Amino acid sequence: MNKIKLIYEGKAKKVYETDDSTLAIFEYKDSLTAFNAQKKDTMQGKGRLTNLISATFLKLLQDKGIPTHFVKLLDDNHQLVKRLKIIPLEVVVRNTSTGSLCKRLGVEEGLDLVPPLVEFYLKNDELGDPLVTEDHIRAFGFASKPQVEKMKELSLKVNEILHKFLSKKGIKLVDFKLEFGMDDEGNIFVADEISPDTCRFWDMTSKERLDKDRFRKDLGNVLEAYEEIWRRIADWEKSCSAEYRANILVYLKEGVLDTQGKAVLSSLYSLGYDEVKNVRVGKYIKITLTSPSQEDAASRIKEMCEDLLVNDLIEEYSFELEEI
Ligand code: C5P
Repeated sequence: MNKIKLIYEGKAKKVYETDDSTLAIFEYKDSLTAFNAQKKDTMQGKGRLTNLISATFLKLLQDKGIPTHFVKLLDDNHQLVKRLKIIPLEVVVRNTSTGSLCKRLGVEEGLDLVPPLVEFYLKNDELGDPLVTEDHIRAFGFASKPQVEKMKELSLKVNEILHKFLSKKGIKLVDFKLEFGMDDEGNIFVADEISPDTCRFWDMTSKERLDKDRFRKDLGNVLEAYEEIWRRIADWEKSCSAEYRANILVYLKEGVLDTQGKAVLSSLYSLGYDEVKNVRVGKYIKITLTSPSQEDAASRIKEMCEDLLVNDLIEEYSFELEEI
Protein backbone atom coordinates (compact mmCIF):
# COMPACT_ATOMS: atom_id res chain seq x y z
CA MET A 1 0.00 0.00 0.00
CA ASN A 2 1.54 3.32 -1.07
CA LYS A 3 1.10 6.91 0.01
CA ILE A 4 -0.27 8.73 -2.99
CA LYS A 5 -1.13 12.24 -1.89
CA LEU A 6 -1.19 14.16 1.39
CA ILE A 7 -4.86 14.78 2.22
CA TYR A 8 -4.49 16.48 5.55
CA GLU A 9 -1.80 17.51 8.00
CA GLY A 10 -2.80 17.88 11.62
CA LYS A 11 -0.85 18.71 14.76
CA ALA A 12 0.30 15.16 15.40
CA LYS A 13 -0.43 13.30 12.17
CA LYS A 14 -0.35 13.39 8.40
CA VAL A 15 -3.06 11.56 6.45
CA TYR A 16 -2.38 10.20 2.97
CA GLU A 17 -4.57 8.90 0.19
CA THR A 18 -3.63 5.38 -0.97
CA ASP A 19 -4.20 3.41 -4.19
CA ASP A 20 -7.37 2.08 -2.55
CA SER A 21 -9.98 4.86 -2.28
CA THR A 22 -11.48 3.25 0.85
CA LEU A 23 -8.20 3.31 2.80
CA ALA A 24 -5.85 5.98 4.14
CA ILE A 25 -2.39 5.95 5.69
CA PHE A 26 -1.81 7.75 9.00
CA GLU A 27 1.71 8.97 9.66
CA TYR A 28 2.31 9.75 13.32
CA LYS A 29 4.61 12.75 13.73
CA ASP A 30 7.16 13.54 16.42
CA SER A 31 5.54 16.90 17.15
CA LEU A 32 3.73 17.57 20.39
CA THR A 33 1.26 20.41 20.86
CA ALA A 34 -0.95 21.58 23.72
CA PHE A 35 -3.41 24.37 24.46
CA ASN A 36 -4.67 24.48 20.88
CA ALA A 37 -1.10 24.49 19.51
CA GLN A 38 0.01 27.51 21.56
CA LYS A 39 2.67 25.26 23.09
CA LYS A 40 4.73 23.19 20.64
CA ASP A 41 7.74 20.92 20.65
CA THR A 42 9.23 18.02 18.76
CA MET A 43 10.45 14.84 20.44
CA GLN A 44 12.24 12.27 18.38
CA GLY A 45 10.56 8.88 18.73
CA LYS A 46 7.20 10.22 19.97
CA GLY A 47 5.44 9.39 16.68
CA ARG A 48 6.62 5.79 16.88
CA LEU A 49 5.24 5.44 20.41
CA THR A 50 1.85 7.02 19.70
CA ASN A 51 1.55 4.93 16.53
CA LEU A 52 2.34 1.64 18.33
CA ILE A 53 0.22 2.45 21.39
CA SER A 54 -2.74 3.60 19.32
CA ALA A 55 -2.55 0.51 17.07
CA THR A 56 -2.55 -1.70 20.18
CA PHE A 57 -5.61 -0.04 21.73
CA LEU A 58 -7.52 -0.03 18.44
CA LYS A 59 -6.74 -3.72 17.85
CA LEU A 60 -7.78 -4.58 21.38
CA LEU A 61 -11.08 -2.74 20.91
CA GLN A 62 -11.68 -4.39 17.56
CA ASP A 63 -11.10 -7.79 19.14
CA LYS A 64 -13.76 -6.95 21.70
CA GLY A 65 -16.28 -6.11 18.98
CA ILE A 66 -15.90 -2.30 18.78
CA PRO A 67 -15.82 -1.09 15.16
CA THR A 68 -12.68 1.02 14.60
CA HIS A 69 -11.00 2.48 11.53
CA PHE A 70 -7.80 0.48 12.19
CA VAL A 71 -6.74 -1.95 9.45
CA LYS A 72 -3.09 -2.75 10.16
CA LEU A 73 0.22 -1.45 11.37
CA LEU A 74 2.54 -0.69 8.45
CA ASP A 75 5.75 0.26 10.25
CA ASP A 76 6.95 2.23 13.28
CA ASN A 77 5.29 5.47 12.18
CA HIS A 78 2.49 4.40 9.85
CA GLN A 79 -0.80 2.58 10.09
CA LEU A 80 -3.40 1.73 7.49
CA VAL A 81 -6.93 2.86 8.34
CA LYS A 82 -10.39 2.97 6.78
CA ARG A 83 -11.16 6.26 5.07
CA LEU A 84 -14.16 7.78 6.83
CA LYS A 85 -16.17 10.95 6.95
CA ILE A 86 -15.28 12.37 10.35
CA ILE A 87 -18.14 13.56 12.57
CA PRO A 88 -17.12 17.07 13.77
CA LEU A 89 -17.35 16.18 17.45
CA GLU A 90 -14.86 15.00 20.05
CA VAL A 91 -16.24 12.73 22.75
CA VAL A 92 -14.51 12.88 26.13
CA VAL A 93 -15.11 10.20 28.76
CA ARG A 94 -14.03 10.99 32.32
CA ASN A 95 -13.56 8.52 35.18
CA THR A 96 -11.74 10.97 37.45
CA SER A 97 -12.06 14.74 37.71
CA THR A 98 -9.13 16.73 36.34
CA GLY A 99 -8.16 19.03 33.46
CA SER A 100 -10.72 21.32 31.87
CA LEU A 101 -13.54 19.83 33.96
CA CYS A 102 -11.98 21.16 37.19
CA LYS A 103 -11.14 24.48 35.56
CA ARG A 104 -14.67 24.94 34.18
CA LEU A 105 -16.65 23.86 37.23
CA GLY A 106 -14.20 24.63 40.03
CA VAL A 107 -14.47 21.06 41.34
CA GLU A 108 -11.70 19.26 43.18
CA GLU A 109 -9.22 17.15 41.19
CA GLY A 110 -9.13 13.36 41.64
CA LEU A 111 -12.82 12.71 42.38
CA ASP A 112 -14.12 9.36 41.14
CA LEU A 113 -16.86 9.90 38.62
CA VAL A 114 -19.30 7.00 38.85
CA PRO A 115 -20.95 6.59 36.41
CA PRO A 116 -18.35 8.13 34.08
CA LEU A 117 -19.07 11.48 32.44
CA VAL A 118 -19.50 11.69 28.69
CA GLU A 119 -19.00 15.13 27.10
CA PHE A 120 -19.16 16.38 23.53
CA TYR A 121 -16.89 19.08 22.13
CA LEU A 122 -17.16 20.72 18.74
CA LYS A 123 -14.08 20.12 16.58
CA ASN A 124 -13.20 23.69 15.75
CA ASP A 125 -9.65 24.97 16.33
CA GLU A 126 -10.62 28.62 15.86
CA LEU A 127 -13.14 28.37 18.70
CA GLY A 128 -10.83 26.19 20.82
CA ASP A 129 -13.08 23.08 20.58
CA PRO A 130 -15.96 24.33 22.80
CA LEU A 131 -18.10 22.05 24.96
CA VAL A 132 -21.52 21.47 23.36
CA THR A 133 -24.73 20.00 24.73
CA GLU A 134 -26.85 17.40 22.94
CA ASP A 135 -29.34 20.20 22.21
CA HIS A 136 -26.59 22.22 20.45
CA ILE A 137 -25.67 19.15 18.43
CA ARG A 138 -29.27 18.63 17.39
CA ALA A 139 -30.07 22.31 16.78
CA PHE A 140 -27.08 22.91 14.52
CA GLY A 141 -26.99 19.47 12.91
CA PHE A 142 -23.44 18.56 14.04
CA ALA A 143 -24.68 14.95 14.25
CA SER A 144 -28.03 13.16 14.28
CA LYS A 145 -29.71 11.83 17.43
CA PRO A 146 -28.99 8.16 16.57
CA GLN A 147 -25.36 9.08 15.85
CA VAL A 148 -25.05 10.81 19.23
CA GLU A 149 -26.57 7.78 20.96
CA LYS A 150 -24.25 5.41 19.11
CA MET A 151 -21.17 7.54 19.91
CA LYS A 152 -22.14 7.62 23.57
CA GLU A 153 -22.79 3.88 23.72
CA LEU A 154 -19.49 3.06 21.96
CA SER A 155 -17.53 5.54 24.11
CA LEU A 156 -18.78 3.93 27.32
CA LYS A 157 -17.96 0.45 25.99
CA VAL A 158 -14.47 1.65 25.00
CA ASN A 159 -14.09 3.05 28.51
CA GLU A 160 -15.06 -0.28 30.07
CA ILE A 161 -12.66 -2.28 27.90
CA LEU A 162 -9.68 0.05 28.26
CA HIS A 163 -10.30 0.63 31.96
CA LYS A 164 -10.30 -3.12 32.67
CA PHE A 165 -7.29 -3.78 30.44
CA LEU A 166 -5.21 -0.91 31.86
CA SER A 167 -6.02 -1.69 35.51
CA LYS A 168 -4.26 -5.03 35.04
CA LYS A 169 -1.20 -3.04 33.92
CA GLY A 170 -1.26 -0.80 36.99
CA ILE A 171 -2.59 2.15 34.99
CA LYS A 172 -5.60 4.23 35.93
CA LEU A 173 -7.56 5.45 32.91
CA VAL A 174 -8.47 8.95 34.08
CA ASP A 175 -10.05 10.30 30.91
CA PHE A 176 -9.74 10.18 27.14
CA LYS A 177 -11.00 11.66 23.91
CA LEU A 178 -12.46 9.76 20.98
CA GLU A 179 -13.40 10.75 17.46
CA PHE A 180 -15.83 8.94 15.21
CA GLY A 181 -16.28 8.61 11.47
CA MET A 182 -18.77 7.11 9.05
CA ASP A 183 -18.30 4.89 6.02
CA ASP A 184 -20.40 5.26 2.84
CA GLU A 185 -23.15 3.10 4.35
CA GLY A 186 -23.40 5.34 7.42
CA ASN A 187 -21.80 2.81 9.80
CA ILE A 188 -20.01 4.48 12.70
CA PHE A 189 -16.41 3.63 13.61
CA VAL A 190 -14.01 4.82 16.29
CA ALA A 191 -11.49 6.88 14.34
CA ASP A 192 -8.32 8.90 14.94
CA GLU A 193 -5.94 7.82 17.71
CA ILE A 194 -5.97 6.57 21.29
CA SER A 195 -2.64 7.30 22.91
CA PRO A 196 -1.01 9.26 25.75
CA ASP A 197 -1.59 12.32 23.52
CA THR A 198 -5.37 11.85 23.82
CA CYS A 199 -5.81 10.08 27.17
CA ARG A 200 -4.80 10.68 30.76
CA PHE A 201 -3.03 7.74 32.39
CA TRP A 202 -1.98 7.77 36.04
CA ASP A 203 0.22 5.14 37.60
CA MET A 204 -2.10 3.40 40.05
CA THR A 205 0.27 3.41 43.00
CA SER A 206 2.53 6.45 42.57
CA LYS A 207 -0.19 8.55 40.78
CA GLU A 208 2.61 9.63 38.42
CA ARG A 209 1.29 11.14 35.17
CA LEU A 210 2.11 8.96 32.17
CA ASP A 211 0.59 11.11 29.40
CA LYS A 212 0.64 14.49 27.66
CA ASP A 213 0.03 16.32 30.97
CA ARG A 214 3.82 15.91 31.47
CA PHE A 215 4.24 18.19 28.46
CA ARG A 216 1.31 20.51 29.26
CA LYS A 217 2.57 21.08 32.81
CA ASP A 218 6.32 20.96 32.10
CA LEU A 219 6.81 17.92 34.33
CA GLY A 220 9.67 16.57 32.15
CA ASN A 221 10.36 12.99 31.00
CA VAL A 222 7.53 13.08 28.46
CA LEU A 223 9.02 10.46 26.17
CA GLU A 224 9.92 8.23 29.14
CA ALA A 225 6.26 8.26 30.24
CA TYR A 226 5.06 7.26 26.75
CA GLU A 227 7.76 4.54 26.70
CA GLU A 228 6.46 3.28 30.05
CA ILE A 229 2.91 2.96 28.67
CA TRP A 230 4.24 1.08 25.66
CA ARG A 231 6.38 -1.18 27.88
CA ARG A 232 3.33 -2.15 29.94
CA ILE A 233 0.98 -2.88 27.05
CA ALA A 234 3.28 -4.23 24.32
CA ASP A 235 2.59 -7.87 25.22
CA TRP A 236 -1.19 -7.34 25.29
CA GLU A 237 -2.07 -10.29 23.06
CA LYS A 238 -0.53 -12.75 25.51
CA SER A 239 -1.69 -10.98 28.64
CA CYS A 240 -5.29 -10.47 27.68
CA SER A 241 -5.95 -14.12 26.90
CA ALA A 242 -9.18 -15.13 28.54
CA GLU A 243 -10.88 -18.45 29.13
CA TYR A 244 -13.96 -19.20 27.06
CA ARG A 245 -16.56 -21.96 27.15
CA ALA A 246 -18.13 -23.11 23.90
CA ASN A 247 -21.46 -24.92 24.04
CA ILE A 248 -21.65 -26.75 20.73
CA LEU A 249 -24.78 -28.46 19.40
CA VAL A 250 -24.38 -31.00 16.63
CA TYR A 251 -27.52 -32.28 14.93
CA LEU A 252 -28.45 -34.33 11.87
CA LYS A 253 -29.37 -32.39 8.75
CA GLU A 254 -33.05 -32.28 7.85
CA GLY A 255 -33.94 -35.37 5.80
CA VAL A 256 -31.16 -37.56 7.20
CA LEU A 257 -32.58 -40.69 8.79
CA ASP A 258 -32.24 -40.51 12.58
CA THR A 259 -32.46 -44.07 13.92
CA GLN A 260 -31.78 -42.99 17.50
CA GLY A 261 -34.52 -40.37 17.23
CA LYS A 262 -36.94 -42.98 15.93
CA ALA A 263 -36.12 -45.34 18.81
CA VAL A 264 -36.70 -42.57 21.37
CA LEU A 265 -39.96 -41.63 19.64
CA SER A 266 -41.30 -45.18 19.81
CA SER A 267 -40.29 -45.49 23.50
CA LEU A 268 -42.09 -42.22 24.26
CA TYR A 269 -45.22 -43.51 22.51
CA SER A 270 -45.09 -46.74 24.49
CA LEU A 271 -45.03 -44.63 27.70
CA GLY A 272 -48.13 -42.76 26.54
CA TYR A 273 -46.62 -39.48 25.28
CA ASP A 274 -48.90 -39.45 22.26
CA GLU A 275 -48.54 -35.69 21.66
CA VAL A 276 -44.92 -36.08 20.50
CA LYS A 277 -44.63 -35.59 16.72
CA ASN A 278 -40.98 -36.03 16.05
CA VAL A 279 -37.66 -36.60 17.83
CA ARG A 280 -34.19 -35.81 16.53
CA VAL A 281 -31.21 -36.76 18.68
CA GLY A 282 -28.05 -34.65 18.57
CA LYS A 283 -24.80 -34.20 20.45
CA TYR A 284 -23.90 -31.50 22.95
CA ILE A 285 -20.19 -30.81 23.28
CA LYS A 286 -18.75 -28.48 25.87
CA ILE A 287 -15.21 -27.14 25.28
CA THR A 288 -13.22 -24.70 27.37
CA LEU A 289 -10.25 -22.95 25.81
CA THR A 290 -8.01 -19.92 26.23
CA SER A 291 -7.86 -17.31 23.54
CA PRO A 292 -6.78 -13.68 23.07
CA SER A 293 -10.29 -12.72 22.02
CA GLN A 294 -13.85 -13.92 21.60
CA GLU A 295 -13.46 -13.57 17.84
CA ASP A 296 -10.37 -15.77 17.86
CA ALA A 297 -12.03 -18.34 20.15
CA ALA A 298 -15.02 -18.53 17.77
CA SER A 299 -12.82 -19.11 14.78
CA ARG A 300 -10.87 -21.88 16.59
CA ILE A 301 -14.12 -23.63 17.61
CA LYS A 302 -15.34 -23.43 14.02
CA GLU A 303 -12.10 -25.09 12.86
CA MET A 304 -12.51 -27.84 15.51
CA CYS A 305 -16.07 -28.50 14.35
CA GLU A 306 -15.06 -28.68 10.73
CA ASP A 307 -11.91 -30.78 11.33
CA LEU A 308 -13.28 -33.30 13.79
CA LEU A 309 -16.48 -32.76 15.68
CA VAL A 310 -19.00 -32.58 12.85
CA ASN A 311 -19.53 -34.91 9.89
CA ASP A 312 -20.52 -32.29 7.37
CA LEU A 313 -22.16 -34.82 5.03
CA ILE A 314 -24.95 -35.57 7.46
CA GLU A 315 -24.58 -33.14 10.38
CA GLU A 316 -24.92 -29.42 11.09
CA TYR A 317 -23.83 -27.43 14.14
CA SER A 318 -24.24 -24.25 16.06
CA PHE A 319 -22.45 -22.93 19.13
CA GLU A 320 -22.52 -20.27 21.77
CA LEU A 321 -19.43 -18.84 23.42
CA GLU A 322 -19.17 -17.36 26.88
CA GLU A 323 -16.21 -15.78 28.63
CA ILE A 324 -15.60 -17.52 31.94
O1 C5P B 1 -8.48 19.07 28.60
P1 C5P B 1 -9.57 18.12 29.03
O2 C5P B 1 -9.56 17.86 30.51
O3 C5P B 1 -10.92 18.52 28.52
O4 C5P B 1 -9.21 16.74 28.32
C1 C5P B 1 -9.94 15.57 28.54
C2 C5P B 1 -9.25 14.41 27.81
O5 C5P B 1 -9.39 14.58 26.40
C3 C5P B 1 -7.75 14.33 28.05
O6 C5P B 1 -7.37 12.97 28.10
C4 C5P B 1 -7.13 15.00 26.84
O7 C5P B 1 -5.87 14.48 26.55
C5 C5P B 1 -8.14 14.67 25.75
N1 C5P B 1 -8.27 15.72 24.73
C6 C5P B 1 -7.74 15.50 23.46
N2 C5P B 1 -7.88 16.46 22.48
C7 C5P B 1 -8.53 17.60 22.73
C8 C5P B 1 -9.07 17.83 24.00
C9 C5P B 1 -8.93 16.88 24.99
O8 C5P B 1 -7.17 14.45 23.20
N3 C5P B 1 -8.66 18.48 21.76
